[in-house]
Amino acid sequence: MVGAARMLGLPVTLLGGGSNVLVSDTGVRGVVVRYRHGEIAETSPGLVRAAGGVTLNGLVRWTISRGFAGLEAWAGTPGTVGGAICGNAHFRGRLMSEMVAAVGLLDEDGETRRVTPDRMGFGYDRSRVQETGEVVVWAEFAVAHARVTDLRAEARSSLRFRKRTQPLGVPSAGCAFRNPDPGRVRLPAGVQCAAGALIDAAGLKGCVVGGARVSHQHANFIVTEPGARARDVRALIDRCRADVAAKYGVTLAPEVMFLGEFDEST
Ligand SMILES: Cc1cc2nc3c(=O)[nH]c(=O)nc-3n(C[C@H](O)[C@H](O)[C@H](O)COP(=O)(O)OP(=O)(O)OC[C@H]3O[C@@H](n4cnc5c(N)ncnc54)[C@H](O)[C@@H]3O)c2cc1C
Repeated sequence: MVGAARMLGLPVTLLGGGSNVLVSDTGVRGVVVRYRHGEIAETSPGLVRAAGGVTLNGLVRWTISRGFAGLEAWAGTPGTVGGAICGNAHFRGRLMSEMVAAVGLLDEDGETRRVTPDRMGFGYDRSRVQETGEVVVWAEFAVAHARVTDLRAEARSSLRFRKRTQPLGVPSAGCAFRNPDPGRVRLPAGVQCAAGALIDAAGLKGCVVGGARVSHQHANFIVTEPGARARDVRALIDRCRADVAAKYGVTLAPEVMFLGEFDEST
């Protein structure tokens, strides 16, 4: 599908679970390929390979039930393996890339190549896929052995943490902004170097544009009501950036990926 669209010269946009994107109200030009489902297998002792379309929660359940340790803290993260590799998903200071042994990337020529982590361009919220447009066909994770009961306990603890700190019952695209690099910003004493804390300190918790609102539970989440438009969310993102920059001199970088066209003047 991806190869055929590219041969016809059509732009291709990959979508996994759609949990970290904001899609323009006018849609996306070209072909949107939603990569879902696929296989999970132990390819050799200590290595688990999952297709890019497998959900993270599916992978976590699979590994836990076989006593494979390493991914249990990701319990409750929406989306797919492909999306998590593309954005190098993070949770409580840990990066998905810490577990990755290799990634299968489909390139422009239709070849799937095995790429080792040192060549993936992994960083906080980053991978080379964001620049190259390659498709994550599969990812291989290094796992260790542990007791299933211990892994379940760890997964439950992650889920409890999420329920306590994130607005899970309302639609959102996850964290709107990346956390700033503490080495690069100077903040007044008492102001935490985290996007949510800065938005909160700028007085934006509960701020509303149309059907979008800065979550009261976690200020780095923009939650929506039925009927909300992408441009409401985008305008609120722009408002948060502008206010935090004006108050603290920190320019927040979006973590949410924008798909389609947005009015850049808003
Ligand atoms: C309530 C909530 C909680 C969240 N908690 C966390 C968290 O703790 N940590 C965290 O890091 N994120 C979190 N997120 C964000 C999101 O769940 C993750 O970033 C997830 O990994 C995105 O996966 P996805 O399949 O939904 O990607 P999508 O949103 O579908 O896509 C994201 C990007 O990945 C690209 N992409 C998707 N699949 C592929 C593929 N197979 N090959 C190449 N590119 C691809 C897309 O083109 C897009 O650019 C949360 C989101 C929500 C709504």
